[in-house]
Amino acid sequence: MQRIRNKGHPYNDLMKEYHRYKYGDSDFQIRTMPQVIGLTASLGSPKNPKNVDDVIKYMINKCANFDAKSYTIVTKNAAELYLKISKTKENTIVVKNDDEFANKYYNYLRGLIEDIEIYLMGIDGVLRNPAIFEGHCEIKKAEYKTWLAITRQSTLKKSKLSPLSKMKATDCLDYLDQLYEAYQCAQLFPTADTTEFYLKNLGSNEGTDLDKLVYRRKQKLGKDPCSECDIFKKLVKCINDQFKKNADSKIIIFTPQRYYCRLGAEVIERYTGKKGIFISGSNASSDEGGCNPAQQSEIVKKFRNGETQILFATTVVDEGFDIAECNLVIKYNLVTDNIAHLQRKGRARQLLSESILITFEEKKKMLEEKNMANIQMITEAYQCLEKLSTARKLSMFENAIIEYNQKRVEEENRDATLKQKMSLRNADFTILCGKCDAYITASANIRLCGSYYIPYDPELWKIVEFCPSTPEADRYNKEKRLGILGMIHCNNVVNGQICDKRIGCATNF
Ligand SMILES: [Zn+2]
Repeated sequence: MQRIRNKGHPYNDLMKEYHRYKYGDSDFQIRTMPQVIGLTASLGSPKNPKNVDDVIKYMINKCANFDAKSYTIVTKNAAELYLKISKTKENTIVVKNDDEFANKYYNYLRGLIEDIEIYLMGIDGVLRNPAIFEGHCEIKKAEYKTWLAITRQSTLKKSKLSPLSKMKATDCLDYLDQLYEAYQCAQLFPTADTTEFYLKNLGSNEGTDLDKLVYRRKQKLGKDPCSECDIFKKLVKCINDQFKKNADSKIIIFTPQRYYCRLGAEVIERYTGKKGIFISGSNASSDEGGCNPAQQSEIVKKFRNGETQILFATTVVDEGFDIAECNLVIKYNLVTDNIAHLQRKGRARQLLSESILITFEEKKKMLEEKNMANIQMITEAYQCLEKLSTARKLSMFENAIIEYNQKRVEEENRDATLKQKMSLRNADFTILCGKCDAYITASANIRLCGSYYIPYDPELWKIVEFCPSTPEADRYNKEKRLGILGMIHCNNVVNGQICDKRIGCATNF
């Protein structure tokens, strides 16, 4: 059972291949194929359907993707079926999040951020490269993270900065990354926890000019203003109430980003007495809060056997994971679309379970209501289809399959041209330090081992430094749990200054 809206989904690729064998370069069947049974939780609806017709069209196209000319729905014994499946109660709670101390804390962070941005502007050559600040916006907005990523990954590389300036600018971006996450987390968690996680070790009295600046600025601001965060208090209350009702409860808390999950899992025990754990996608490294597949299944196991009863999750858990039944699903300031809505609700599989949206934004509440309206439209779409004659329905499904195959052949021709162009280029590449551009190794030396990329290059040790992890630096025992022995830093010297960019970690295998 998979969600197949996105184009790159493996199921879509499989079905494309199936269609290619069956229909070849045309939309007429040229070969008999075995029947494939595909299951989906719901045929779903487009993102913003204007009316029921939009939904019907979407559903029929989805069936064309399956090469299906009909669908089945439960018509008999429906009442009996509904007795057996859980009736998830749904609820939305809006908690305004603007107490005086929280606002002071946001100002405090903004002050730090401003100082670093001014420092960035002062780096030799930065103002002569206006592209660096293109797309810059307020820290409040999600686009800030995009600006950081683009500046790091492309603008700086293309800019005509000296290597030393590039290194300094990268240091600024590292700080801003941390502070962006801190700012986001401070909206959903007590500020004291944000400080502990992000600010405590920020800056240093003995590092670069920038390290010292951040350190001094922190001292000058004095003790940060402390807020318990109203929305978090509500979250804790919902969790505690659930455990009062049933001490063996299992609770999943969905959040929009992995850094919320990471922080939430670290702190929740202090407020509820129950251990927390988090699961996120494998598209980020462990120290950035990602989980590789082995870690994911370990976490799922712990939650299933009740070892941990509170699971923080990003939307990665919407599909494909058999998380086992849980009693309460909390969407913590998270709303996406109607399919995800159904799936998330579907996680609350215990009879008499509950699904709650807790948010500080009125607009999230409205989006949630729109999702529910879309789900209603799906029901109406089925009712409309049921009223059509069998022949009419069949021709609608058959036409959609013809259209699907016409589009597929067009796409395949386009891809073939592109592939030919690409094959003319060399597939080998070199890996450079993201901060100082020093040569690290070549792609030919990299092996994929499980989900780790491992360099097999003895020469590597001449340009990197191994820094063993200390219990002090690893204050949450995060590295220890992951088997990380220490970090690998770039040892290249530019203008008398060691680059020191962290480029990977050493683990026990
Ligand atoms: Zn470097």
